[in-house]
Amino acid sequence: MDYKDLAELIFPEAKPVEYYEKKYPERNLPEGAVVSRFAPSPTGFVHIGGLYQALVARTMAKKTGGVFFLRIEDTDQKREIENGVTDIVNSLKDFDIIPDEGMITDTEEVGNYGPYKQSLRKDIYQAYAKHFIEMGKAYPCFCNADELEEMRKKQEAAGVRTGYYGVWSKCRNLSVDEMVQRINNGEKYIVRFKSPGREDRKIRHKDVIKGNVDFPENDQDIVIIKADGLPTYHFAHLVDDHLMRTTHVIRSDEWLSSVPLHLQLYNEMGFKAPKYAHISPIMKNENGNKRKLSKRKDPEAAVAYYEEIGVPNEAVKEYLLNIANSNFELWRKQNPDKGIEEFDFQINKMSVSGALFDMVKLQDIAKNVISKYNAEKVYNESLEWAKKHDNELLEILNDKEYSIKVLNIERGKTKPRRDIAKWKDVKDCIIYMYDNKFFSNNDEYDFDKINDKDEIKKILKLYVSKYYDEADDQTTWFGKMKDLAEELGYAREVKEYKQEPEKWPGHIGDISTVIRVAITKRRNTPDLYEIMHVLGRDSVEKRIELLINK
Ligand code: GLU
Repeated sequence: MDYKDLAELIFPEAKPVEYYEKKYPERNLPEGAVVSRFAPSPTGFVHIGGLYQALVARTMAKKTGGVFFLRIEDTDQKREIENGVTDIVNSLKDFDIIPDEGMITDTEEVGNYGPYKQSLRKDIYQAYAKHFIEMGKAYPCFCNADELEEMRKKQEAAGVRTGYYGVWSKCRNLSVDEMVQRINNGEKYIVRFKSPGREDRKIRHKDVIKGNVDFPENDQDIVIIKADGLPTYHFAHLVDDHLMRTTHVIRSDEWLSSVPLHLQLYNEMGFKAPKYAHISPIMKNENGNKRKLSKRKDPEAAVAYYEEIGVPNEAVKEYLLNIANSNFELWRKQNPDKGIEEFDFQINKMSVSGALFDMVKLQDIAKNVISKYNAEKVYNESLEWAKKHDNELLEILNDKEYSIKVLNIERGKTKPRRDIAKWKDVKDCIIYMYDNKFFSNNDEYDFDKINDKDEIKKILKLYVSKYYDEADDQTTWFGKMKDLAEELGYAREVKEYKQEPEKWPGHIGDISTVIRVAITKRRNTPDLYEIMHVLGRDSVEKRIELLINK
């Protein structure tokens, strides 16, 4: 009996690996094209870090004329959650990170290098495991959980590394005859890789992001095929990224320490290893300490959170590029109107230590993004969001024509309004423009410098009776505001006031604040002229009279 017989006994059905090598040939792509992938496990909600990886992988593929695919890593079937795959597919779709190949729904896929779901690739993994056994580089292991546990305890007591290696790898030196006999006796087993490594030798790995990293060689005989016949992550990675002809494995840096093992697997199988780019996690600043953005503690870790509060996906992507490449910010300043796909992204410039997540910055970017939308788009996006999350907003948006006018205030200008960071903000930004909401709210008027009741009434009375004319253009309107100030003994110009402040009770700005607060109950609003213009005469007069009669 030799290893060939052993392999045949374990995997009698498996096809020769040549079959798969031919079925999935080298890709015919231009020199330098990056083939990369997003390879999530459907075990929980889509994490912002996952989206970040997908965005980086997709950007690299796009930039080089390569391929980006989505592979579902579902070999740990106990941990799988309901709708896991659908959530992943939809999240990518929402963010317009569309894979060229791979799963497009829970069950459908596109591309010639599939199946793209690992649970459907069992026979492929087994073919390669069989090949490993034939070469004497893998073997069945009969140790059960209790034996392994006992071994671990012994290792701990002896103060040595735990694991299945060297003298501890009990089954590695069994004779083929004995292995065959034990299998024929019906003993349970899994398949292990026979590592040729030695812990006292070093290897150097050149990571695309992390640069040179030195490791001891791997000497662990890791499991490659589990008791359920499915592969472990390590073995699936070897087989899949080889057969899918991945050139760049772009993944989370939690896998960096597995690189010595992965390089060894590629080497022993006789495959060319891909390049590795290990992305540092997105960090959060908590009381001055940096920690990983946590699935449990931080709502913003979930991609779904951004939809819930209504941050446009475009803004999230733009923010992620911002933390990925620090020169993005300057580029954006210089190219305010370009699409993010025009940015020359450099993967090797990504942070080695982990970028800090900053919600304020993200919202600032979102404000910019939204400020460039036209009113129609803001209306449509807010409406879609409101349908799912906010009935009151939905109710006020019901008047489409008027709402678009409201949302158009200070929009489409060189310095457009920047007060909306997310659709959740829209209601608060516009609600005072709707009479039924304005007259029914109990908000206090919060006047500023001029807050004497009689003075306020005097200002408002004179304004409506003498100066307010709905038909005025902006210049005339403003001129009249100044006339009003002057007639009441205030300075016409702020500059004038500043030169001799003791000469006046206040200036034009104080007067217009009174009108602004009277009409909106707010001190900060977009352009008052535009607001009054959109409200129209009836509403403006009613609002002012309400205060006069108070
Ligand atoms: N399924 C692995 C994970 O979610 C994939 C890692 C990789 O990209 O290779 O962590």
